[in-house]
Parts: sequence; C-alpha cells; structure tokens
Amino acid sequence: MSERIQAPRGTQDVLPEQTAARAALEARAREVLESAGYQRIETPIFEHTELFQRGVGESTDIVQKEMYTFDDAGGRSLTLRPEGTAAVCRAYVEHGMHKLAQPVKLWYLGPFFRYERAQAGRYRQFWQIGAEALGSEDPAVDAEAILLLTTLLTDVGARGITVKVSSLGRLESRAEYRAALQDHLRRHADKLSEEVRNRIDLNPLRAFDSDHPGTREVMAGAPLLRDFLDAEDAQHFSEVLALLDAAGVAYKVEPTLVRGLDYYVRTVFEIHSSELGAQSALGGGGRYDRLIAEIGGPPTPGMGWAAGIERILLAGGAPPHAAPPVDLYVAGPVGPTQFRLVADARRAGLGAQLDLAGRSMKGVFKQAARLDARYVAWMNEDGSWELKDRQGGEQITAPDADAVVRDVLRGPGL
Ligand code: AMP
Repeated sequence: MSERIQAPRGTQDVLPEQTAARAALEARAREVLESAGYQRIETPIFEHTELFQRGVGESTDIVQKEMYTFDDAGGRSLTLRPEGTAAVCRAYVEHGMHKLAQPVKLWYLGPFFRYERAQAGRYRQFWQIGAEALGSEDPAVDAEAILLLTTLLTDVGARGITVKVSSLGRLESRAEYRAALQDHLRRHADKLSEEVRNRIDLNPLRAFDSDHPGTREVMAGAPLLRDFLDAEDAQHFSEVLALLDAAGVAYKVEPTLVRGLDYYVRTVFEIHSSELGAQSALGGGGRYDRLIAEIGGPPTPGMGWAAGIERILLAGGAPPHAAPPVDLYVAGPVGPTQFRLVADARRAGLGAQLDLAGRSMKGVFKQAARLDARYVAWMNEDGSWELKDRQGGEQITAPDADAVVRDVLRGPGL
C-alpha cells in the first residue's frame, strides 16, 4: 500500500458537521454588514508580492517571514494573500471607486495564508470576514466599524468578549514617539530579548507584543503613545470613544495595543475572547489613511477590520442552525420512477433523498430515522406506491409517483 498523504501542517479540513455553523456565521455577517450598507467584494487569492511588501510593510512579521511567495511560470513573484486590506485598496484604485459616493463600504470573506507556527487557533490557512470603509476620515466610520464587529460577535454568541481600543496617532505624532521609545529601549537594551533588540530600529512598537519577561519589565516603564498624540489626533480619538459610548459598546482603552501591520494610523482596535488561550484575538483592525497612496492610488483615508472565522467558532460563536428537513425518503432499487419521483419532489420544494445503498426495507426505515425524514415511500410490484408517515404512523397507498408528491405536499405540517 502507498504511504498515506495528509493535509499540510497548519491547514484544516472543514468537515460536513462543521459547515452548518460556518454557514450560519457567514449569513449573520452578511446581514449585519449589508444592513449597514457594506457590499461584498472578492479579490484574488494571489496578488503581486509587491502589493503586500508596500501595503503591509517590509518591517512586519507577515512580510518578513510569513508569506507564501512563489514565482509563476512567467517569472512573476506572486504571494498567497496574508490579509485582505491591501487587496481591497488595490481594487478600489484599480476600479476607480474614488468616483463613487464616499465612503465606499466593502466586505469580504475567504481564505488567507500565513506561514505561522501552527497551534490551537493559529493556522497556515484560515478564513477571515473583513470590512473596509474607504474615503472618509470621520471618527464615526471608526466607531461604526468597531460597533459592527462587536455586534456580529455578540449576535453569534462568541463568549467572554473584550473590546480594546487605542490610537496610534498620525505619522507626525508617531515619529516623535518612536524616537522616545527607541531611546527607552536602547537604555535598557541589556534586558530585552534578542528579537526585540534587533528590531529597535525597524519596528520598536512590536516590543509591546513580546512575552519575554525582561522585555515586559522594560515595557512596563516605556513611554506611551497616548501622551504624544497631537491635538487633532487626540480629538479624533475622543470622538470615536464618545460615539462608542453613545452606542453602548463597552470597551477598554489599551494604550499598548500594537497591531502587527505597518499601515495603521489613529484608531486601532482588537476584540479578544477569554475562551481562547494564547491566540485570543477574534478580530481587529484600524485606520489606514496612508495605505492607498502607498500602493499608487490618490491619497484616500480608510478604516477596516478582519476577524478569524475559526477563532470565532472556537469562542462559541455559532448561531443556531437547523439542517434542512428531509420530507421524503424513497426506497430503492432506484429505477427511472424512483429517480423521477425525487426530482419532482425537489422541484415542488420538498427535501427528498433516495436510498443509494440498496438497503432492505428495515435498513431504509433505519436510515430514514437517522435523517429524521418525515415520509418514507416505496413502490409496489404493480407500480402503485406506499407512503408511510413516520410521525403520524399512517400509511397510504398512492396510485402512482405523482400522487406521492401530492400526498406529501398535503401532509400535516408541510
Ligand atoms: P490580524 O489582521 O493579523 O490581526 O488578523 C485578524 C484576525 O484574523 C485575528 O484576530 C484572528 O482571528 C484571525 N487570524 C489571523 N491570523 C490567523 C491564523 N494564523 N490562524 C487563525 N486565525 C488567524
């Protein structure tokens, strides 16, 4: 026998018993987002590598070590998308969406790829639901984005949720802060982890993410970006918070919240669940007012988020979902009459299945019970049909297959 081939590390099969919860989550996401005016967009699974290098940022973990990058047969460098925002911005520019009424509000859902250390809640292929609002700086856009993700997670029953918000300010605020933080890190360089020490120049903010004890100690005394915000940034942030208050969204201001992507300015947020272990973020996002210009578009502000479907499900977030009922289960052997009967039944709007395993009558009833089918039908030798109501217990004889469908449709509760 040949060696068994398994799915690649960090990938997951979504098995039939898991798809109902996903479908229900997706349906709820559509309702929440589309009722707020977000429209669905789908971008390709792979993009030019440069989009992420410029869009996500060279200094990020994603670009430095997590991308699935390959040359295609034409010699172009392509990358499986590690996140959704850069591609949505690319599409906005490519399709001239700045000519539409602003902000343009888009949402998406699909698989994303990062070469990460696989563990519970962290995969190499995972699914995200995301939403982006492009073309407005209004703090209401930020507050609404946070509100929508909070609403979705609450609606689907994700447990133990905390909303964390912060402001990173714009570049000007940040440059000053960066210098102050770098100063602090250099002064305590001997206590830092090697990784953080090596990134003092490139990405000092990521030091807040470290779980290295020495680094954490140093970070406890680090200057906070909050104290470096200029008046406009501070005002923008306080308006976001006031709107969240107005909408009754409970949140925690977390001055050390750092997102793993370079493009954020001003508002950033994450929603965590206490149900998860180390990988507790269900979703997060923020404002990215420079990104569209960075990838060659007209300067356009944007705000968005992405949430991981697997993590939402792990946090207990799956709305109740009933499998479609089986109204009619038709016994074999399957000939043209049986086959046509289920086709007609489905055309009439019924849930209908054939016995495709050559079961005995006893087996047919067992399978009908497993499916919780309402009616079981089988053909007599003379071409008439028997129809048994598994709930009422009643059995009737129908002259032909057409009559079976009519009788089922007439049935109580259908
Ligand atoms: P990020 O933009 O990296 O914060 O990702 C947004 C959300 O996507 C996270 O909060 C997670 O829920 C989910 N996510 C990100 N990376 C992974 C991964 N490797 N495996 C599973 N879910 C992920």
